[in-house]
Amino acid sequence: MPEVMPNYDYDSELLVKAYQKAIDDILRELERMDLSEFSRANQLSTLKSVGEILNGLNKEAGELAKLSIEKAAKDGVINTIISLGVVETVAEAENIVAFNRVNKELVKAVVADTQKDLLACSLNVDKKVRATVQKVSVEVMRNNLTRGINATATLRRDITAELRKQLGESVNTGIIDAAGRKWRPEKYVNVLVRSKMMEAHKEATINEALSREVLYGVISKHGAKDKCAAWEGKVVKFTRGAPGDYVYIGDLPKNEIFHPFCRHLITPKRKPERV
Ligand SMILES: [Zn+2]
Repeated sequence: MPEVMPNYDYDSELLVKAYQKAIDDILRELERMDLSEFSRANQLSTLKSVGEILNGLNKEAGELAKLSIEKAAKDGVINTIISLGVVETVAEAENIVAFNRVNKELVKAVVADTQKDLLACSLNVDKKVRATVQKVSVEVMRNNLTRGINATATLRRDITAELRKQLGESVNTGIIDAAGRKWRPEKYVNVLVRSKMMEAHKEATINEALSREVLYGVISKHGAKDKCAAWEGKVVKFTRGAPGDYVYIGDLPKNEIFHPFCRHLITPKRKPERV
C-alpha cells in the first residue's frame, strides 16, 4: 500500500459544484426568456448573460484545476519520499516537499491540459445554448405568425413547454466525448479532474523517484474487481532501459490499468526483487 492514499472527492466536488452552479444560472436565464414575444434584443441579452456566466465559470474552474493538480503532484512527491524512507511522517515530508525541474514542467503541462479541456467543455455548452436559442426563436416567431388562427392557450402552453425542454437539454447534454458518448457537463468535469489528478500523482511520483535514482515501483492493491486486478502488486520499471524482467510503465495497457476513475497508484521501490 502507498503510504499516503489520496482522496480527491473534495477537489472534484468543488469543480463539479462550480459547473452545477453555472448551469443552474444559465437555465435560470433561459427560463426568464419571454417566449411569447421573442425579440432579437431579448435573445441577444440572454446570450450575453450566458456568456458572462461561462466566463466567470472558466476563471473559477481554471484556478480550481490549478490548485487540484498541484496538490496531486505534491501528494505524489510526498508518497515517494516517505516510501523511500527519506522521512518518516507526512508532516516531515510536507516540510521538505519541492517540485524538481521535471515536476515543475509536469505540473505546468497537466494544468494547461486540464484547463484546455475544461474550457472546451464550457465552449461546448455555449455553442449548444446559442444554437438552441436561435432554433427556439425561429419556432416562436413561426408560432406567433399563426397566433389568433389556431394558437389556443393550451397549444401555446405546450409549445412553450417544448421549447423550454429543448433549451434545458441543450445545457444538460453539452459534451460528446471521443467515443461519441453524451455527458452532462458536471459528470464530464468530475471524470476529467479525477483522471488528471491521478495522472499528476503518478507522473510526479515517477519523476521524484527517478531524480533519486529509483527505477522501479509497485502498483497498489485494494482488491480491485476490474481488469486492474491482474496488475495489483506488480512491479513496473520507470525507464525502458532499467535492468530486470519487469514491464515498462509506459507499456501498460491503458484499458486495463490507470483508466479513468482508476484508484491505483505507484509506490517507488529501490530494490524490486524485495517486493
Ligand atoms: Zn485501477
